[in-house]
Amino acid sequence: MRYYSLKNPTITTDFKTAVINGIAPDRGLYFPNEIPRLAPSFFDQIETMDVHQMAVEIMTPFVSGEIPKDILEQIIKKTLDFDFPIVPLATNIGILELFQGPTLAFKDVGARFMAQCLGYFNHEENNQEITVLVATSGDTGGAVANGFLGVKGIKVVILYPKGKVSDVQERQLTTLGENITALEVDGVFDDCQEMVKNAFLDSEINSKRKLTSANSINIARWLPQMLYYFIAYKKLKKQNKTLVFSVPSGNFGNICAGMIAQQMGVPIDHFIASTNVNDTVPAYLESKEYSPKPTVPTISNAMDVSDPSNFVRIQKIYENNFSLLSNHLSAYRFTDIETRAAIESIYVDSGYIADPHGAVGYLGLKKYLEKNPEKYGLFLETAHPVKFLDTVESSLNIKVPVPERIKVLFTKEKQRISISDYTDLKAYLLT
Ligand SMILES: *Cc1c(COP(=O)(O)O)cnc(C)c1O
Repeated sequence: MRYYSLKNPTITTDFKTAVINGIAPDRGLYFPNEIPRLAPSFFDQIETMDVHQMAVEIMTPFVSGEIPKDILEQIIKKTLDFDFPIVPLATNIGILELFQGPTLAFKDVGARFMAQCLGYFNHEENNQEITVLVATSGDTGGAVANGFLGVKGIKVVILYPKGKVSDVQERQLTTLGENITALEVDGVFDDCQEMVKNAFLDSEINSKRKLTSANSINIARWLPQMLYYFIAYKKLKKQNKTLVFSVPSGNFGNICAGMIAQQMGVPIDHFIASTNVNDTVPAYLESKEYSPKPTVPTISNAMDVSDPSNFVRIQKIYENNFSLLSNHLSAYRFTDIETRAAIESIYVDSGYIADPHGAVGYLGLKKYLEKNPEKYGLFLETAHPVKFLDTVESSLNIKVPVPERIKVLFTKEKQRISISDYTDLKAYLLT
C-alpha cells in the first residue's frame, strides 16, 4: 500500500516510511492510496472468525510487502489481548467498552500496534535510535508510554499540560521510567501540540534526532482503531440491526477509523461525533464554517481539542463534499453540566458507571435516536471511570472500585521535567 500526503497527492511513500516519519515532508497527513473493500464472503463468515485472524486479514492490505504475515500475526496478538465487551443499556442502546487494555483507555490498541510496528522496522535495520515525541491531553500519554515501554531502539518523550490531566493519568505517564520521559508543560494541550509540531519542523533538532509522533496523525496509531468497529459488528451481526455509532471525539482519529471500516464494507448506517464544548465540528456541520476557537478545559479532557487533526482525513473520505459528509455524520456538543447529569442518570437507570467521555457519547447517541428511534446505537466507552475519579465520584457520591493495575501506580513516584516554552523543549531534545 502507498500513502500520500493530503496536502499534495504527488508526495507518496510506503507504510514503513509513513510510520517512521509520522507526517509527510510537506506537513500533510498521510492517507492510504486506496481503501480496499473486503469481499462479501468476509462479512458472511465474520461471526465465526477468530478475532486475531480477522484483524490480520483487515490489516494485511495496509502493510503488505512490508511486514511479513507471521510478524503481523504476532503484532496483532500482542495488540489485541483483551476483550471489547458490549454492555446493553436500553433496548436500542449498547455500550462498546474499549477500555479493558493495560492503561484502561481505548488508545492502548493504536499505541501498541504502532510500538510493535516501529520496533519491528527498527530492529530490522538496527538503526539510529528513534525518538517518539508526543503531546497528550491525558490518555494518549499513558497508552503510548505503556505500549512503547522497553521497546528497543525507541525513546519516548511525552508532553502534557500541567494540572490539566487527572492524577491517575499523570501517574501513568510519569512512573514508568526506562525509555519513557514525561515533560510537564506550563500551558494547555494545544500548546503541547504546537510545540511538538515546531520540533518536527526544526532542522537543528532533526539533524541530531530521528523524531516521530505517536498521535493519531501517525497511520499506525490511527488505522488499527478501525478494528473496534469490525469487532462490534461481528458481535451484533446476528441481531440484524441498523447500526449507528456515537464516538466521543477530540482529535477525531477514532471516528475517522470507523469511517474507514465503513468504507471497507462494515454496514454502519451513521456516525455521531459527540464533543464537549470544544465544538468546532458540530459548529461546522451547522454553519459550514470551520473556525476553531481557543481550547476550553472540560471534565472530558481527552477531548479538549479545538482543531482536530484528523478532520482533513474525514473530509477526504467524503470527497470534500459537505452534503455527502453530513449524510454520514451528525455532531453534537455537550456542556460539563449536561455530562455530569448524564453520568448520574446512566447510573440511576442502570447501575452503570460511565466516565465523562463515554457520558458525552451517550448524550450524542440519545439526541440522535430521538429523531431516529428505529435504529440501534452503540456509544463508545473510551476510558475506565477510575481514570476520572474525582469527576465520577463527585457526580455520583460513590466510591469507584479501583482495579489492581491502577492501585500499583500509587506506590510509585512521579518523575517529570517541567518546561514552559519551546526553547525549553528544544534544549531538552538537543542534550
Ligand atoms: C483520546 C480520547 C478521546 C478522543 O479520541 P479521538 O480519536 O482523539 O477523537 C475520547 N475519549 C478518551 C477517553 C480519549 O482518551
